[in-house]
Amino acid sequence: MKALVYHGPGNKSWDEVPDPVLIHPTDAIVQVDTTTICGTDLHILKGDVPAVTPGRILGHEAVGTVLEVGESVTQVSVGDRVIVSCISACGTCTYCRSGNPSHCLSDEGASGIGWILGHLIDGTQAEKVRIPFADTSLYALPDGVPDDAAILLSDILPTGFEIGVQYGRVKPGDTVAVVGAGPVGLAVIATAGLYGAARIISIDLDPSRLELARQVGATHVVNSGEADWAEQVRALTDGYGVDVAIEAVGVPATFDMCTRLVRPGGSIANVGVHGRSVELELDRLWIQNITISMGLVNTTTLGMLLKLVAQGKLPVATFVTHRFGLADMMSAYETFGNAAQTKALKVLISR
Ligand code: NAD
Ligand code: ZN
Ligand code: ZN
Repeated sequence: MKALVYHGPGNKSWDEVPDPVLIHPTDAIVQVDTTTICGTDLHILKGDVPAVTPGRILGHEAVGTVLEVGESVTQVSVGDRVIVSCISACGTCTYCRSGNPSHCLSDEGASGIGWILGHLIDGTQAEKVRIPFADTSLYALPDGVPDDAAILLSDILPTGFEIGVQYGRVKPGDTVAVVGAGPVGLAVIATAGLYGAARIISIDLDPSRLELARQVGATHVVNSGEADWAEQVRALTDGYGVDVAIEAVGVPATFDMCTRLVRPGGSIANVGVHGRSVELELDRLWIQNITISMGLVNTTTLGMLLKLVAQGKLPVATFVTHRFGLADMMSAYETFGNAAQTKALKVLISR
C-alpha cells in the first residue's frame, strides 16, 4: 500500500510500504476512507517530537471501513464505517478505567501515552491502518454523517471540548476568551455553547481566521495585532476580565495573554502543545484565585459529540477548506503547511 512516511526532520515521502497485519487479537485493520493533517504532524516534521522515529507512517485522524478484526473484537465488524480516535485506549488499565486513556498503560504505548498512532506506531495517513484495541478506540459511524464532519471527531472536537471547555469549567452565563482560531480554537468555540457560554470572544492575528470564528459561534472577535487588544476584550466584560481564558496556540506569548485576560476567580485552560517552557508570574497571579489546567485529549467525549454532530447540533460545516485524493498527500501537506497563504484549516484527504 501507499503511506506518508516520516524520514527524519524536514523529510517525508509518499512511499510503497507493506500492508498492515493483525498483531493482537484486539486489533482491527481499517481501510482509510478519509484522513487529515494536524498541526502536530507539522511539529513532528520539524523534529519537535523525537519519539517519532524515521520510517514511521504519520497521522492520527481518520474515518474508515473495517476490513479485518482480531478474534477478541466484539464491538465492530468487517464493513462497519468507523471513526478512529486519536487515542488508542486499552479500556482496562488504571488510567483508562479512571477516564484518562490519554495515559493508557498498554504495551503498545509503552510510555503511558494513549496517543500512539502516527507517533509510536504507524498511523492513518495511509491506505490502511492497524488499530489496536479496536473495541475501545473505534466508533461506529451512523448513516448520514459525512466524512468531513466525522473526521473532526478523531481529535479536534474532543480536544477543544475536553481540554478547553470542560477543563476550563465553562458554566452558563460565562464570558469566554479563546486565544487562537486554528482548527482547535474553532473547536473550542463550536463547543463552548454546550455549557452555556454567553459571550465567546475569539482572538487571533489573522482576520480570515477571525471570520471563520464568527461562523462557528464566536459572538465577538478581537485582533491581537492591535495594541489595545486587551482593553477591547475587557470592554466586553464588566471591566474585570473574562471568566475563562483558553489558550489554543502553544507559544509563551499566548499563554501570557490568557493570564492577562482572566478575572479573579476565573480559569485558564491551556490546550496548546508547548515546545519550550513558559514563565508563570506566580508573584502576580497567586492572589487572584485562578485555576490553571492543561492536558492531552482523552476523546472520552467522542461518542457524545458524535450524537450532536449526527443531529446537526454543532457548527461543523466550515472546518474543511481543501480536498485531496490520497495520492495527492504531498500536495495536501504543502497546502496545509502554508496555511497563512492558502487559508487552509482542515484538509480532507480521501481515497
Ligand atoms: P494552528 O497553528 O492551526 O492555529 C493557531 C492559531 O493561532 C492560528 O490561527 C494563528 O494565527 C494564531 N496565533 C498565533 N500566534 C498568535 C498570537 N500571538 N495571538 C493570537 N493568535 C495567534 O493550530 P491548531 O491546529 O488549531 O492547534 C492549536 C494548538 O493545539 C497546537 O499547539 C496544537 O498542537 C494543540 N493541540 C493540543 C491537543 C491536546 O490534546 N492538548 C490536541 C490537538 C492539538
Ligand atoms: Zn492532532
Ligand atoms: Zn489503557
